[in-house]
Amino acid sequence: MKTSIFTFFALCAALCMNAQQITGFTTEAADRQIALEKQFDASLSAENLDSWMQKMTAQPHWVGTPFGEENAKWMKKQFESWGYDARIETYQVLFPYPKVRSLELTEPGSFKASLTAVPVEGDPFTAQGEALLPSYNAFSRDGDVEAELVFVNYGVPADYEMLEKLGIDVKGKIVIAKYYGSWRGIKPKLAAEKGAIGCLIYSDPKDDGYYQGAVYPEGAFKNATGVQRGSVMDMPLYPGDVLTPGYAATKDAKRLKREDAPTITKIPVLPISYADAEPLLKALKGPVAPSDWRGALPLTYRIGPGPAKVHLKLEFEWKLQPAHNVIATLKGSEFPDQWIIRGNHHDAWVHGAADPVSGMVALMEEARAVGELARKGQGPKRTLVYCAWDAEEPGLIGSTEWVEDHLSELQEKAVAYINTDGNGRGFLGAGGSHSLQTMVSEVAREVPDPQTGVSIQERLLSRNAANGRDKEFELYALGSGSDYTPFIQHAGIASLNLGFGGENAGGEYHTIYDTYPHFKRFKDPDMSYGIALAKTAGRITLRLANAQWLPLDFKPWKKTVSTYLDEVMETTDKMRKATEKHNELVRSRAYELSADPKKGIAAPKAKAMVPYLDFAPLQNALTKLDGEVNALSGKEFSSLSNSGKKALNTLLMKTEQQLTSKDGLPRRSWYKHQIYAPGFYTGYGVKTLPGVREAIEQRNWDEAQAEIEKLAGTLESMADHLKKINALN
Ligand SMILES: [Zn+2]
Repeated sequence: MKTSIFTFFALCAALCMNAQQITGFTTEAADRQIALEKQFDASLSAENLDSWMQKMTAQPHWVGTPFGEENAKWMKKQFESWGYDARIETYQVLFPYPKVRSLELTEPGSFKASLTAVPVEGDPFTAQGEALLPSYNAFSRDGDVEAELVFVNYGVPADYEMLEKLGIDVKGKIVIAKYYGSWRGIKPKLAAEKGAIGCLIYSDPKDDGYYQGAVYPEGAFKNATGVQRGSVMDMPLYPGDVLTPGYAATKDAKRLKREDAPTITKIPVLPISYADAEPLLKALKGPVAPSDWRGALPLTYRIGPGPAKVHLKLEFEWKLQPAHNVIATLKGSEFPDQWIIRGNHHDAWVHGAADPVSGMVALMEEARAVGELARKGQGPKRTLVYCAWDAEEPGLIGSTEWVEDHLSELQEKAVAYINTDGNGRGFLGAGGSHSLQTMVSEVAREVPDPQTGVSIQERLLSRNAANGRDKEFELYALGSGSDYTPFIQHAGIASLNLGFGGENAGGEYHTIYDTYPHFKRFKDPDMSYGIALAKTAGRITLRLANAQWLPLDFKPWKKTVSTYLDEVMETTDKMRKATEKHNELVRSRAYELSADPKKGIAAPKAKAMVPYLDFAPLQNALTKLDGEVNALSGKEFSSLSNSGKKALNTLLMKTEQQLTSKDGLPRRSWYKHQIYAPGFYTGYGVKTLPGVREAIEQRNWDEAQAEIEKLAGTLESMADHLKKINALN
């Protein structure tokens, strides 16, 4: 009887108390952590998010505006009132303001583009007139050009291949490209490489307008006059201040001359609405555009060139502006020199209710609740650094300058960087370093989805399953497009990017319509997803802060890297087969004989054969990694001595840095990470194993082989580093 009661209690204890295992914590510590997270959840308030959003979006606040500075000062005070040590770190960064913007159709007939979005009923913020930032692409060069127009679809590499097939050259012309299909900065970059002298980018209603749904103010989508602003700086080369590549834009920093800044575009570029694009497209003649190029305007889409001729004139006021980053720290009680960094930007193109304020207010509420716990004696063991970045929109400038300024200290002390940006109703989107995947997955199993009550992970995986995808939680790989870029790709700090979305579609992005009334109607009306974001990012931050050993897991990391290698090898084989087939069709004149002789289409030329690359160094490095990763996953960290645990954390903090190389990627040495980078010709879109993959895609075989060897060296040094961890006792 006695024993059976004992057994009963032991069993109950095992079932009831040890309900949860968290990576990085012993069972007892996990229980304490979960209790702490419950308190954290309970103190979050959606009302705070709502009132702070109203306050921060009352006026436009791009970098250099008085209201932007007012927001920064106000946030600093807020952080201080929650117990943080807060300061504003200011950099002097080049920011162009549009002085002259003129676009005219000069032949046939005449038409002057209005370049102005109309105020709408029910949204007083859209009627602030002169206070609204005129629509333009930041870091377009000045220019005054007149030429025939050519329609280039999205203006991506595949589109120029099609133009070549059609025998159409853009040299000396002005191109008009649709938004989407790539990051916007790729469009003028590629157009200039092809010899165009100007570039227009417009939002076609098929991708972004009435074809998608009712337009603002009736619905959420882009009306005929809405224009997407945005940076066209050549960020795949380096982000941040264009005049201070690789170092901080402090007051007295040595600066490049503007003419020498390589990330300013080579040709003038201007974004326009579909109301302004329609007369231009209507005036084009020449071949009818391929069916997948056509949009939803009521006209026959033709390519040109001409006879439509346009005159584009742009002049900017190029001035240094102060970028104010707010940096708020809460010192860790046990490991003050290990930092968990959490950031969101605060500058917007106009009012920026969705982008970025929806994410900013969630970060602030998270920081407030963490401060409250600290006041009750439950402060973080590691130091927390909450950041509100300025000048993200023109090119990740505030965060990049800060990382460049503090690089060596960050590489010594930073454990991880957790980024958020805009947020809305829908599904969790989580990207980042794959060593953090297990930890994020554990968190996503616990945060409830506000609409369905199941966990945010269950909801996400259900959508994946319904769409025929794997029902497994995975982080996506980080390209670029927000402030994590300098942390992961330049400094080699493990990073995450988090946000909800998918049920918040609209056309307000970077327009005068991204306002509080629009957000309340179409994005996250009750701020419940803002709270879900605070719960998710807050848990991740608190677990990283309090873990006994840092919650990194290299199994999913290794699996993901192997997948990338398989992809790259497969791509090479496919290219080889496609090239053989193409050359055979050229030899047999099949292209020539199948084309309409009246269209005068030039027959494609034969391509150089794809050689066999030697991937063995990479395969061998991965085998070596396999051994270390397997040994590591069987290791009992909880039984390490205290000095062993200390050494373990120090080594774990440095793992992501093993994946960087000092020389960086070919032709863009600012990008140091060898696993993830934004694509040279995709912009925000990620290229994994970028050195190898891009060399193959560009058919640069010598470089591909050299990059294979370089990457193998990087992976070998990661294996050696993990070996050191395995040797700890
Ligand atoms: Zn943003």
